[in-house]
Amino acid sequence: MNAAEVLSEIMMPEESRTRPNVVDLRSDTVTRPTEAMYERMREAPLGDDGLEGDPTARELEVTTARILGKEAGLFVPSCTMANLLAILAQVQRSEQILLEAQAHMINTERGAATFTGTFLLGLPGTDGAMDLDRLEDALRPGASPLRTAMVALETSHNAAGGAVLPLLHMAAVAGLAWTRGIPVHLDGARLFNAATHLEVTPAEIAAQVDTVSLCLSKGLSAPAGAILAGPAAVIAEARRLRKMLGGTQRQIGIVAAAGLEAVTAMGARLAEDHATARQLSDGLNGLDPRLSASIPQTNIVQVDLTGTGRDSARWVDDLEAAGILSRPLGERRLRLVTHRHIDSGDVARAVAAFRTCLDAA
Ligand SMILES: *Cc1c(COP(=O)(O)O)cnc(C)c1O
Repeated sequence: MNAAEVLSEIMMPEESRTRPNVVDLRSDTVTRPTEAMYERMREAPLGDDGLEGDPTARELEVTTARILGKEAGLFVPSCTMANLLAILAQVQRSEQILLEAQAHMINTERGAATFTGTFLLGLPGTDGAMDLDRLEDALRPGASPLRTAMVALETSHNAAGGAVLPLLHMAAVAGLAWTRGIPVHLDGARLFNAATHLEVTPAEIAAQVDTVSLCLSKGLSAPAGAILAGPAAVIAEARRLRKMLGGTQRQIGIVAAAGLEAVTAMGARLAEDHATARQLSDGLNGLDPRLSASIPQTNIVQVDLTGTGRDSARWVDDLEAAGILSRPLGERRLRLVTHRHIDSGDVARAVAAFRTCLDAA
C-alpha cells in the first residue's frame, strides 16, 4: 500500500471498519471513532503541546474540567497514566494509598508502586465499595507505620462487574478522608457509565472527590486518551510530572479533537449499552441453569461457567469459533462488555452461540 491508500484505509467510514460477522464483546475499548470525530480531527487547530501548547488539547482540558466540575484538567495518553500522575502529584515515597481490594489501580496497575515508592493497601469491599469500618480502622492513628496520603475509589467498578458506587458511599468515604486532611482520588475510567446509571451528571459524582481520571477510549469511543481533573495546583504538578514520564505529546490536538466529541456528545448514548448488557444477562440467565450471568448496572456482564464443567479458556475458544469474542475472568468466568457496535441483534446472536456451545458439550 502507498501512503494515500494507507490514509484512505484509516479514514474509511466506521461501518466498514468493524470486523464483519463477529460480535466483539471483549471490551468497550474496541469502539471506533465516529464520523463526527473524524471531522473534528481533520479540522482541529494544532500547536506543539510541549512548546506553546496545543489549542485543541487545551480546549479538551478546559471543557472536560468544566464537565467534571473541577478547576483544571490534563490530557494524558491513557487512564493508567492519569491514575499514576494522581499518585505522583499527591503522594510521597513510603506513603500509603487505601483502596477497595479489587480496584483496577491494585489489580492491574499496582506496578505503579515500583515507580512511586508508595504502598497500596486493599480493603475488603462489596460490589466495589470498600467496607467503611475497615477504612476507619485503617485511618486510625498508629494503624500502620506508613502515613496514609490518599484514598482512591473506582466507579463504575470494573472487577465488580461494572457496579456503580452509591453517592452516599462516596460521600462517607470522602468524609472519613477529608476530616483527616487526606485527598480522595476517583478512578473514573467509566465515570460517564456511572453517571448514566445514577441519572446524575458526571460533576455530581466528581464532587465527592478531589481528583478524577476519565478514560476517553472506552464507551465514549475516542481512539485514545484520558483526562485527569482536579484542583489547579495538583493538575499543574501533574503537568510537570507528565513531561518527566514522556507523556507530553506534540501535535496531540488530532487525538484531543476526538476526545472533545467523546466528552460532549458520546455520554448521552451509554444507556443503550446498559440496555444491551441487561438484555445479554437476561438472555443468558434464561438459557440454561448451568450458566449464571451477573445482573449489570452498566455495560459489563460476568458469566459464571462453573456449572458447565468447562473452563473459561475453552469457552473463549468455542465462542470464538461461533463468531463471538469474549475474555476470560479467571478460570471459571467470562467477561462480556457491550458498546456502540453491539445492538440487540448481536446480543441475540451471542445468546444463541452460548446455546450452541452448551449443546455441543
Ligand atoms: C481501562 C481502565 C483503566 C485504564 O485505562 P487505559 O486508558 O486503558 O490505561 C483504569 N481504570 C479502570 C477502572 C479501567 O477500566
